[in-house]
Amino acid sequence: MKIVFLGSGGGRVVVINQLRASGGWILEMDDQMFHIDPGPGALARAKQYGVPLRRVTGVIISHAHPDHYADAEMVVEAMTLGTKEKRGVIIGSASVIKGWEKHHPVFSPYHLNAAERYEILEPGKETSIGKIRIKATPTNHGEERGIGFVFEGKNRVGYTSDGEYFEGQEKHFSGCDILIINCLRPRGERWPTHMNSEQAVKLISKTRPKLAVLKHFGMRMLKAVPEKEAAWMEKETGIKTIAARDGMVLETRDGKMEIRLSGGKREDSLEGFLK
Ligand SMILES: [Zn+2]
Repeated sequence: MKIVFLGSGGGRVVVINQLRASGGWILEMDDQMFHIDPGPGALARAKQYGVPLRRVTGVIISHAHPDHYADAEMVVEAMTLGTKEKRGVIIGSASVIKGWEKHHPVFSPYHLNAAERYEILEPGKETSIGKIRIKATPTNHGEERGIGFVFEGKNRVGYTSDGEYFEGQEKHFSGCDILIINCLRPRGERWPTHMNSEQAVKLISKTRPKLAVLKHFGMRMLKAVPEKEAAWMEKETGIKTIAARDGMVLETRDGKMEIRLSGGKREDSLEGFLK
């Protein structure tokens, strides 16, 4: 399994000014390659970090906010060789596929039909691509139709998407090897319908993954230094917690999880992961 972060930024100021990148993240597992939440700059970041989007087999989008979908149609074009090959799967919340209130649908019918199939996922529902089961989890976010995901293959990877912690959220992510949390704000800085560090601690301590990864950092989080927040959370929860960087790679090798920063520098490794 391999995960590549094509961005770690979130929130208006950080994304508009590209203080951190916003290209979403890549999950490679069980012969599939999913591009999740391909926000602004996804194509450029994929090129920068050496991810061949031609190999993408699933474009998966959590909700209809542009920092999560702005490059979505272009990633479908990469997946389908400019729509010449009917290939891959598109999965999204109802708001992503059909539009919702003030949000128009993320994909044109032309792009939806370029994929082999497309599917709407509602919270609690699941589907699969190849051998990977994909479950949609509920969120508590301003975009009310948004969903998070659990990807279940050789490893189990959870992704909260955007949203504030809510009672019982942990049960949707039980048994995850890796839990990816969109943590917009640091300790003491609450912003309704977005996660902050205290709330992430609640979720991590109740979910108890092998590794928690924070991303989607807003301005206040960057000022507080995400690595410091992650270190605090690790101390509070006893769970290994890291802050994503743009271009960071997590890769399982011989049962270990290697954490590499952009450029291949090895940062850390964790025991106890499947290959
Ligand atoms: Zn959002």
